[in-house]
Amino acid sequence: MKITIASGKGGTGKTMVAANLAYVLSQHERVSLVDCDADEPDLHLYFPGEPRCVPVKTGIPKIDTHACDLCGECGTFCRYGALTVLKDRVLFFSEMCHSCGGCTIVCSRHAISEEEHAIGSVEIRTISDTLTLYSGIMDPGQVLAPNIIRAAKEEAASALMICDAAPGIACPVIEASADADFILLVTEPTPFGVANLSQMAELTRMLKIPAAVVINRSFGDDELVHAFCRDADLPVWLTIPFSREFAAVQNAGGLISRAFPEWEKAFLDLYAGICSRGDAS
Ligand code: SF4
Ligand code: SF4
Repeated sequence: MKITIASGKGGTGKTMVAANLAYVLSQHERVSLVDCDADEPDLHLYFPGEPRCVPVKTGIPKIDTHACDLCGECGTFCRYGALTVLKDRVLFFSEMCHSCGGCTIVCSRHAISEEEHAIGSVEIRTISDTLTLYSGIMDPGQVLAPNIIRAAKEEAASALMICDAAPGIACPVIEASADADFILLVTEPTPFGVANLSQMAELTRMLKIPAAVVINRSFGDDELVHAFCRDADLPVWLTIPFSREFAAVQNAGGLISRAFPEWEKAFLDLYAGICSRGDAS
């Protein structure tokens, strides 16, 4: 079972939900928790520890200047602007290359081969016998977050995987979500929060993956979210109130499910709902 925790914007509490769900479920079975926010991973703030690092590399073009006749085909082909063919040489901008391999194929002179290029790493932390955290981390200046996320998910071994997606709806979120069995959408009960929730709801529909909503920082008047969810046929399965006590626990790197026993049950109930809806779909 793969569960992705997502939200249309940052700061909704998505990572907090992922951390609590993973911690609670790890009391009962093995869990792989995957931080898919390769630009700014932060799940390790809940689960600190010395990591083991696995480098992530990808193939980039290497041009044989003796074989190249400066025909220009590779520059015309590369839609990412990573290759520019001048009168006397080919310029390659590695930070713009998406490692599609197309230039190698279109070069009729066979002047392009591939060489390995480091783009980031996966940090692996063993939190307990039943919980392991895999954090994808992209090197500064790189653009291939989906490759890092794929590598982090490949390292994760447990049958139960919880992925904390990056905020937004761009390619890294799709990479974290496309193979999920269920997507939990975390939102704040504000007009801005609902606007971003609607984008994520549309994405889950396009991916044809069942989803449910978690409302975070509720002041008790969440009709805006409930009205949207009724229209979108999305169930709201958990509402986490705004609470100074919760904020104090989290600011100290703690988990509300560990600090408050009733919240352990709340996250277990959330998982029971995911299992029933995931199996039904
Ligand atoms: S396609 Fe090949 S031969 Fe043509 S400019 Fe590019 S590297 Fe050179
Ligand atoms: S591998 Fe793809 S993205 Fe990279 S330079 Fe070649 S054509 Fe462009």
